[in-house]
Formats: sequence, C-alpha cells, structure tokens
Amino acid sequence: MNAEIRMNQVSGDYFDTFNTITSPAPEHILQAALDECAVYNQMLSKFVPGSDVWKINHSSGQPVEINEHTRAVLEMALEMNQASDGAFNIALGPTIGLWHFTDGTAVLPDPAEIKKTLAKADCSQIVLLGNTVRVPEGTEIDLGGIAKGYICDCIADSLRARGVTSALLNFGGNVVTVGNRPDGKAWTIGLQRPSGERGKEFWAAVKSCDSTLVTSGIYERSFHLNGVTYHHILDPRTGWPVQNHILTVTAITKSSLLADAITTALFVLGPEKGLNLAQRYGVSAVYLRDDGKVFYDPDLDIVFVK
Ligand code: ADP
Ligand code: MG
Repeated sequence: MNAEIRMNQVSGDYFDTFNTITSPAPEHILQAALDECAVYNQMLSKFVPGSDVWKINHSSGQPVEINEHTRAVLEMALEMNQASDGAFNIALGPTIGLWHFTDGTAVLPDPAEIKKTLAKADCSQIVLLGNTVRVPEGTEIDLGGIAKGYICDCIADSLRARGVTSALLNFGGNVVTVGNRPDGKAWTIGLQRPSGERGKEFWAAVKSCDSTLVTSGIYERSFHLNGVTYHHILDPRTGWPVQNHILTVTAITKSSLLADAITTALFVLGPEKGLNLAQRYGVSAVYLRDDGKVFYDPDLDIVFVK
C-alpha cells in the first residue's frame, strides 16, 4: 500500500465482540459511524430492557410494534428459515439460553429442558405483518446469528453517506468493505485459521470491494468437556451444537444481512446442501473441515495459505 496514505482506526465493544473500522477518512467521521452501533444494540439486543427483541420476548403472545430495522432483520430471518429447511432458526432463544455460551459456564443442559424449549422453536408460528410481529407465548427470539450483519450494512451505508469512499469494517468475523483500498486496489481479507492466533494466522485470502465476508466457526464461543467441543451454533432438530466436522464456513456477497443469516445456515447444513443453498442466493461460500478438506464455490477467487 502507498506509504503516504495514513490509515485511521476506531474500535469499540458492541454485541459481545470487538469491532473496528479502518479507513483513511478522518477519525471523528469513523467514530461517529461506529457510535451508531449503540443505537442498533438498543433495538436488537435481547438483553436490553425495552429493545424491540426484549419486547417481543416479553409479549406473552400479544402483537408488538417494531421499527423498520427490526422488521428488515426479521424478514430475512424468516425467509432464511424457510430457504434452509429450518436450519436457520431465530426461535431457538430459550434453547440457546440453556447453553450459557455467553457467560462462560461449561455445563451441559438437561436433555428434557432442551426438548421442552425446542417445542416452542417453530418459526412458522411467528407472524410478521407490516411493523407488527406476534410470537406465540413461550417462544423467544435470538438474533445473534443475523443482527451483526444488518448492523454492519447500516454502518457501512452511514460511512458512505458521510462521504467515506474507502473503509474496512471488521465486526468480530463480519467484514464489510467500502470501496477499494486507498491505493485503488481491492482489499485482501484473510480467513482466520481456526487454531491460529486471532488476526495473525490465516488459512485463505479473498479480494473484496464493496462486499462482505461473514464467517461462522466453532472456535469463537465454545467450551470443551471430556474431549468434546461444544460451540454456539445449534442444530435446531436436536438443540445440540452441530457436530459435522466443519471448523468454519465463510460466505461472500454484497449484503452482510444475507451473508450473516446464510453463513449460520450453511454451517448447520454442511457443505453438500449448504453450497446448493448458497448458489440459489448467488452467494459464494467456502468451508474448512477438521481434516483440512476444503469445499467451495469453484467461481470464487480465493488463495489458500499453506
Ligand atoms: P457469530 O455470532 O460468531 O458471528 P453466527 O452468525 O453463526 O456466529 O451466529 C451464532 C449465534 O446465532 C449463536 O450465538 C446464537 O445466538 C445464534 N444461533 C445458534 N444456532 C442458530 C441457528 N441454528 N439458527 C439461527 N441462529 C442460531
Ligand atoms: Mg450468522
């Protein structure tokens, strides 16, 4: 990269991850865009009392008025639930809660409790009409598999609206690029090696300009017990972490909302069904299995690192 171009970087913790924006644009502009994360967190976090998701999860079966952002996320979530034959399921809220992935408790849930919560995890019972949503009593939603993608899109649009023409957003595994690098070349995005040092070791690299790369992996939120890795992507049929030998899958496309939803679905579905779903959406995808085998869209321009 041209040595005269100075890059600025702002960062902050949102949505339980570390988020950065890197760009030659002035720092106060980057900071103003990043600060908008707080607004989206207020709407979409299930932990913030009064957020749209909090209201939905405390609605006791009554309709809830939601804003346009929450509606956009729910629309994609329900569409992806259907498109993936249920692999992507935002109604797993109570099941996800039983696993305590966010508070570091390494305890296996009671199978009877899992069964009970799964009985309420039916997305087809969620009714979205205009800006109103109704979920059955006992059903709780969790947007952990999709919200970050939507927020990344919004922050990238906010940067563009503020006149930024070159930026790299990295929101804990969700990458969005605005334009090219300042030197006019495409950004090169490394895919994190699952066992490697964060941000330092990569197993592959992809070029990106005004596009997004979203990764779902077993190494982000997980715990180990008796030689088994229990990670945060659940198979909606069993309520247990997906065990299909996939370490990580990355989706590459324009919309980070779509990429986030589909990546979680791709993880659950595995390479065969997953690459088919990705193709239907015009999304490029690449999987890494625990024996080192790679499955990917042959049209994807990707460089593998030895
Ligand atoms: P990350 O959070 O690391 O970006 P994902 O986008 O794959 O990874 O989201 C995983 C999160 O999605 C989990 O922490 C949980 O909140 C939620 N989740 C888990 N399993 C599913 C599933 N089958 N469908 C939809 N959301 C899920
Ligand atoms: Mg996701």
